[in-house]
Amino acid sequence: MPAQTQQTAPKQPRALKHAVELIRRPSVTPEDGGCQDYIESVLSPLGFKRTRVDCGEVYNSIYTRLGEENGILAYAGHTDVVPTGPEAQWPHPPFAATVEGNVLYGRGAQDMKAGIACWMAALETCLAKANSHLPDLQLLITSDEEGASVDGTIRLVEYMQEHGKLPDAAIVGEPSSAEHVGDTVRRGRRGVVHVYLNIHGKQGHSAYPQDAENAIHHAVEAAHAIMHIDWGMPTPGFPPTSCQFTQMNSGEGASNVIPGQAAAFADIRYNPALNFEQICQRIKSACPMSDIVNLDIRHEAAAFHTPDGPLLDLVCDSIRRITGIETRRDTGGGTSDGRFLASAGIPVVELGLTNDTIHQIGERVATAELDELTRIYTDIITHFEGPTCL
Ligand SMILES: [Zn+2]
Repeated sequence: MPAQTQQTAPKQPRALKHAVELIRRPSVTPEDGGCQDYIESVLSPLGFKRTRVDCGEVYNSIYTRLGEENGILAYAGHTDVVPTGPEAQWPHPPFAATVEGNVLYGRGAQDMKAGIACWMAALETCLAKANSHLPDLQLLITSDEEGASVDGTIRLVEYMQEHGKLPDAAIVGEPSSAEHVGDTVRRGRRGVVHVYLNIHGKQGHSAYPQDAENAIHHAVEAAHAIMHIDWGMPTPGFPPTSCQFTQMNSGEGASNVIPGQAAAFADIRYNPALNFEQICQRIKSACPMSDIVNLDIRHEAAAFHTPDGPLLDLVCDSIRRITGIETRRDTGGGTSDGRFLASAGIPVVELGLTNDTIHQIGERVATAELDELTRIYTDIITHFEGPTCL
């Protein structure tokens, strides 16, 4: 059956309809492709007001609906997607949003247009109920999550801080689930520190080392010292701090020349038991700066950790009610925009679809997942009781 016929079938669930609409608006980062306009077209009849907080070429929108109960519940997500890779290798064109069998194909199917679609459908369900008493609801949507992440969610958080509108809690819709929707939520992420080492020795003949200063030898010693730093006890529930050298470059292209210059780069993923200042201190005491060794240490992303408490309980209870699953409260993976919300003091939990094909050629999601996630989101919105429960 042609995809078009299925997608316009009258019984198509709302989440699937929204997911198809969003995927059909190509939006490789930092493009938005009209996705945020589409979200507005769905939410504005429900009483949401859109505020644009665009920054440079990045599209940022806050959709707000004032509620009848206390508290502000936010949902954060992104409309940008990663590039498709070779389109000819896709089983269906990446922006066609083809439904074949019970599977939706397309860039953003898991990460994370279909997740946003589920939250939109959940809002429609909640607001269709008579006598529904809901908190203030916010959607914080950016087109800069897959790129540099410098003009996206962080700008939305700054705007809300300036206007006194920070939410009491935030659900980030990144695809957190492993095998079944809701089997895993993320309640924190490690932070990222980058270390650039530049070594300035003295070039010379390898048969006359007394007249040279070997930059490679200094680079290896410095890397060795940094690699073996004791980072201490990790925060329970988090992977330990890890330091990986991912680049080391030197050499003059000749076998008999001692190089005078070398460069190395380390990517540190740090556990929230540490902070940036402590990391800098330990690196500098393990590898002191000198005329030869120059260190440039940069804080790329802050770690965050939402402690056990009412928000995590609310999310896990909703998952259990809908699916029967006992959720794993995980802290794995790379960084996410959750860090910007958490650094403003907002409790953050990431809950979304499965993630086994994110960023891959042929990204796809089972349509049943959309139904399940929509029901979980609906349950969370319905049971959110405002700041008193947090
Ligand atoms: Zn994502």
